[in-house]
Parts: sequence; C-alpha cells; structure tokens
Amino acid sequence: MRKVFHFDSPPEPYVADAAVLCCFDYRISRAVRKFLKKQAIERADMIVVAGGAKTLASPRNDFEQDFILEQVRMSIRLHQTKRVLVMSHSDCATYGGLAHFKGDRNAEADHHRGELLRAGELLTSHFSGISVEPYFVKFDGIWEVRNADGLKSAAPAKQTGAREIA
Ligand SMILES: [Zn+2]
Repeated sequence: MRKVFHFDSPPEPYVADAAVLCCFDYRISRAVRKFLKKQAIERADMIVVAGGAKTLASPRNDFEQDFILEQVRMSIRLHQTKRVLVMSHSDCATYGGLAHFKGDRNAEADHHRGELLRAGELLTSHFSGISVEPYFVKFDGIWEVRNADGLKSAAPAKQTGAREIA
C-alpha cells in the first residue's frame, strides 16, 4: 500500500451518541450534519443508504430490511448505542420524489410520517433499551414526527400511542 493522504483520526474506542439512519441524497447531507451537531451528537454511527427509513418501513426486499436491522444491531453491540435517529426526506427518489405525490407537500409529509412511525416501531420491537426518534427532512429544515412518544421510551415498546395515529 502507498500512503496517499495524511490525517490524524482519534484511535480510541468510543460509545456512540446515536445511530443515524438516513438517505444518501447529497441535498440533505449538510442539514443532517448540522442538526446532529445541534443535538450534541458528536460520535454517530451513520447508516447512510438510499431511502433511509424506507429500508425498514417499506423495503424493496427482505434482504434490505434485514441488512439495515443488522447494522443497527452492530452499532448497539459494538458502540453501546442507546439512541437511534431514523430519517426520510422530501423529494426522495426512492419514493418517486415529490412528483409521486403530485407536488402536494402535505400529502408527502403525511405519507412519510406513517413510514417513519412504522420504521420506529420495527426498531423498538427488535431492540430493547433504545430510544427511537423519527425525523422528516425537508428543504427548509428538519421536522420531528409528532405523537411518536411511544417510540421514545425505552423498550418494551409501548404499542398504544404510536398505533393510534399510524
Ligand atoms: Zn432519498
């Protein structure tokens, strides 16, 4: 091997402040980074894949969902992760973009709300002792999914709150 770049990275083992599942869409990457900083999430295990929360809520195939669950499991096991942020975003190509909702941003947001809650429920049903926070990323900022309190408390998952509004 030949060294092509010098940079000093912290070599110590770490406990992750959070695992973050989000889409690889470049347009939202800066907002997500800044939001994490604002949330004082410094050490994040980033799970960046096409669709973000979609891979759990409405995966294209079983492999996709299993793979992402395994990534979260690894973050919990290796880095003692207690907090998982799940995100989806406006105009995501994996949903057919805003065009799929005929340009109706409210319809899009409603749909994503259901997706994010479903992704969150899946996580809380698989992993005990984590808090799950669903967020919808728009081009003007990041929106917390309301009435997701059932997801926030550590497992065993309280099904009631989240189910009512899903
Ligand atoms: Zn996307």
